[in-house]
Parts: sequence; structure tokens; C-alpha cells
Amino acid sequence: MTLEQTTTGSLETYEGLLAAISVADGAPVTDPATDEVIAHAPIATPADLDAAVAAARAAQPAWEALGHARRSEILVGAADAVDRSAAALAELISREQGKPLNGPGSRFEAGGVSAWLRTAAATELSEETLLDEPRATIAYRAVGLVGAIGPWNWPALIAAWQLAPALRMGNAVIMKPSEHTPLSVLAVGAILNQVLPAGVLTVLSGDRDLGVALTGHDAFGKLMFTGSTRTGKAIVAASAANLPRLTLELGGNDPGIVLPDVDAQAIAQDLFWGAFINTGQTCAALKRLYVHDDVYDDVVEALRAVAAQVPMGYGVDESSALGPLTTADQLAIVDRLVEDAKAGGARVVLGGEPDRAAAGNFYPTTLVADIDAHAPLVVEEQFGPALPIVRYSDLDEVIGLANGLDVGLGASVWSADAARAREIAARIQAGTVWINSHGGVHPMVPFGGIKGSGYGLEFGVEGLKAVAVPHVING
Ligand code: NAD
Repeated sequence: MTLEQTTTGSLETYEGLLAAISVADGAPVTDPATDEVIAHAPIATPADLDAAVAAARAAQPAWEALGHARRSEILVGAADAVDRSAAALAELISREQGKPLNGPGSRFEAGGVSAWLRTAAATELSEETLLDEPRATIAYRAVGLVGAIGPWNWPALIAAWQLAPALRMGNAVIMKPSEHTPLSVLAVGAILNQVLPAGVLTVLSGDRDLGVALTGHDAFGKLMFTGSTRTGKAIVAASAANLPRLTLELGGNDPGIVLPDVDAQAIAQDLFWGAFINTGQTCAALKRLYVHDDVYDDVVEALRAVAAQVPMGYGVDESSALGPLTTADQLAIVDRLVEDAKAGGARVVLGGEPDRAAAGNFYPTTLVADIDAHAPLVVEEQFGPALPIVRYSDLDEVIGLANGLDVGLGASVWSADAARAREIAARIQAGTVWINSHGGVHPMVPFGGIKGSGYGLEFGVEGLKAVAVPHVING
């Protein structure tokens, strides 16, 4: 989509945006709150991928040659275009992915797309002098073509996390969104392509087969992937053929450890949103909560009181604070894990009884207490609105439980004593540990996982380096 193909202003309404990105006979995209088809997304073929590669190869050298300052001006212009279309984009995200308009919902997501573009534009990455005598310098150059594949939970925001630094460094980008949320990413592409030179950014929608074609293509010097650990491993295997650099942001199962000195009432809101943001469908959400025996009952009750007040409903309803799950498959996973916990004798404090006959993928806000530390709801990633709350009394033992899984994206420690919390944070195996909050990200603070949660960093200066190739000159 280029400026010539759109009428000025047409991408600023929901209807105009949808008309610009959808086709009559593509893949149906359903609204997860109603099960109704919103629109049909194009299904890109291998020939479409080759055409996008040819356009990207043709456009990239001139884009790189513009230099950082000029590219940054263009990215600021792209962010301005996102801001003009923000209301339409937010509505589309709510209808396609399910999250509410308000709170940490789709308006926040659309704002994040703009914020990440602006930050990437403003971040400096200059040549560094490593040695004066003999002189040695390191600079970072464009890789060339970057391929990016994304998930369905924060489709537009994660697309921006991938494309903003990649474009900033002078690369051309070809993206494949999740087949569950192609429209939000196609919309971001259409909005940005009002401003970007043709060929520099292409969004191709398609399913897993397109992802396999993209990751196996020899055009890409770098692949960025956000999604499940299983798919991440498939991409690592595929990368053996052409050796693209990889950034892998994979699944997580973030622990939160609550120490005995907390004020349960004071932390309950932040604990709740750390776990239930986007109805739990967030890579670095709090997914297993360990609470010390001394404050266990108080924390469970304070969480129940907060959770019971938070309305769940249709994303585009202004009063909703939580939405449906994006896919029926994810609903089935959450349902299975909670049923298993019940069968194992855990105590359901809130929720746990979905209306299986209702339209949409709604699963109620669910708190499961007195659950075995090794129950599937604790050790498997639920990626939904069901939080297991494990009782503990021994700190070393609970750190062992926190570190005991093969993933390590985020974690949190909750305490009135910040110094004590930092000591414990240092012992936790995760890419990020938050203290007295969970899951907040900032475009200048690097973010990435360890173990099965992947490797490579996004955001900040480290994020720019990750979409570049180092170039050392000695002498
Ligand atoms: P997924 O792995 O099923 O799909 C992600 C994308 O990969 C989709 O676009 C899909 O079409 C594509 N794909 C599937 N198989 C492929 C293959 N063999 N080769 C190439 N592409 C392929 O993940 P999902 O269900 O969309 O997302 C949920 C998962 O993502 C959760 O585990 C969550 O924790 C994780 N996630 C991680 C982060 C993070 O930053 N670490 C962020 C969001 C989501």
C-alpha cells in the first residue's frame, strides 16, 4: 500500500482501514467476542514472498543510504501517521484480538506502536572507539533484509517492536503476522506505508506455511520471531540452511514471589494487572504466584476482592476491562488446566466455571488457591485468565521452584524491603525481574528471555545492535 493507492485520510476511520487491508475471498478473521467474521485477510503465496523480497532488495540500499538522521525523520512521520489512525487501529485491535479499548488495552497498544517508532527514531547508535592506540572502532551497519514473524496477543505492538528498530538501522522488513490477527498488522503496514518509501516494509498475511517459507528463504540476514517455544525451535532448525541472525522472544511462565512483609491490600491491584493484563495473554505476565504462608490468606482475599470488581466483556464496549481469549484453542488450554487443578483438590476462589454455550471465547477471571506446586496449571504456560496461587514457607525452596522450569522470561519479587527484594531478584533465572510490579516494559530498557524463553534482546541501544551487523576497523 502506498500513498498513491489510498485516499488521504481514509486510513483514519475503522471502515477505511478495514477496506484498505481486507480482500473479498481471503482467510476469514473472526471476532473472538462474537464468533462473527470481521473481514477476510489476503493469503500470500510463495510468489508474493518472492515479489516482496525483490521489492525489498531494490529499496533497501537507498533506504540505508539516507542515513540515520533522515530515516529517523521519516519514522517520526510514520509515528504521526499512526497517531492520526490511532482510534481506528485501536478499534480494529479490539475487534480482532479481543482486548478492551481502555486500560492496558487497544488504545494503549496503538499508542505503543507510535511510542516505539519515536524511540527508535531518537535512539543514537554511533561508532564506538574501542582502542586509541592502535586505533580500533566498532560500528553497526544494516543487515539488509529482516524477516519478522509475530504472535496474536499484542499483534500491532509486537510488530512495532520488530519493525521500528529494523527500519531505524536501515534494513528493509518483511513481516508475517499471526493467522489469528493479520488485520492489525496489515493495518500498521498500510498506515506506515503512507510515509515509507515503497518496498521498505511489506506485511504478508498467511498461515504457518508462509512462516516456513519466510524462515527458509535465503534473502534474510536477520529473523525476528515472537511466539511459542515450539515454533522458535523450528525456526532455529530452519536457520541452519542460511544462517540468518536470530532474535527469539518465546513463551514464558513467569513466577511472582510475595514475601511475608507485604501489605496485601497495597499490592493487590498491581498483582492483579501483572497477571491478568490482556486477559493473561501476555508473554511476560505473572503466571504463577508464590505467597508466603504468613500473608497467604490476606493476599488471596485482597486479590479476590480486586478481581471480582473487574468487568469482562466485548472489547469495543467502553466499560470492559478484560476481554475474551483470542482463540478457541487457547480457551481449551485454560479450561483443561483449571479442570485438572480442581480434580487435584485445589481451591477455586473465583471463576473457574465458563459458560460453554455462550458465544465468543470468554473464560472468567479465575483464581486457584492451595494448589500443588507441580500441578499443570502451575508448571505449564496457561496464557489466559487463571492464576494459580501456591503457598510457601521456605524462601530457598520457593526460589528453587521459581527457577525450576525450562523457561525464563520475567519474574517478580514483592516486598516492603526493596534491598531485600533486589537480593532475591539476583537469584532468579529470568531475563527481567521486576520488584513490586510485573511485566512493564519501556522502549529504552532491553527485554529478552533466557533458557526456553529464547535469546537476543529487543528495545534500546541493544535492540538496535540486534538488527545490525557489527563492523570493526583496526588501525
Ligand atoms: P506460535 O508459535 O503458534 O505462532 C507464532 C507465529 O509463528 C505465527 O505467525 C505462526 O503462523 C508462525 N509459525 C508457526 N509455525 C511456524 C514455523 N514452523 N515456521 C515459521 N513460522 C511459524 O505462537 P502464538 O500461539 O501465536 O503465540 C503465543 C506464544 O507466544 C506464547 O507461548 C507466548 O508466551 C509467546 N509470546 C512471547 C512473547 C515474548 O516477547 N517473549 C510475546 C508474545 C507471545
